[in-house]
Amino acid sequence: MAKILIVEDNALNIKLFCDLLAAHGHEPEAVSDSRNALDTAKSFSPDLVITDIQLPHVSGLELIRMIRSDEQIAEVPIMAVTAYSAQGDEERIRAAGAQAYVSKPISVVRFAETVDELLKGDDTPEIDNPESRANVAGESPGPTEAGGEET
Ligand code: MN
Repeated sequence: MAKILIVEDNALNIKLFCDLLAAHGHEPEAVSDSRNALDTAKSFSPDLVITDIQLPHVSGLELIRMIRSDEQIAEVPIMAVTAYSAQGDEERIRAAGAQAYVSKPISVVRFAETVDELLKGDDTPEIDNPESRANVAGESPGPTEAGGEET
């Protein structure tokens, strides 16, 4: 079981991520206002931070940089979740200090695998790739499609 902090402004995504993580035996804690995320990260001491990139007030990239420059929590693994993967996004997200990202709408399987890899301390998890995901057969629609809308 791991303590996992979720920073996400979309209520449907919060529910989806919390349900998924709880189903894998983890203890999720969600913050919807990124201005509170750093303080919550310091008090909750998570084993992993999952952050949306498209956030009002403090963007996911800013939050990642703030975590990386705070000596109390600088070492925590960070997984970014982003609705847009334009060219260069992976580089920007990694340069800010995240180890991995998955794109929305998330693949439930990929999401869970990436969480497991980061908790195991694997520094080079596979990056979610929309092209490879298109080849995955047998994924049920529904939950995998949830939370695609950005707010
Ligand atoms: Mn968002």
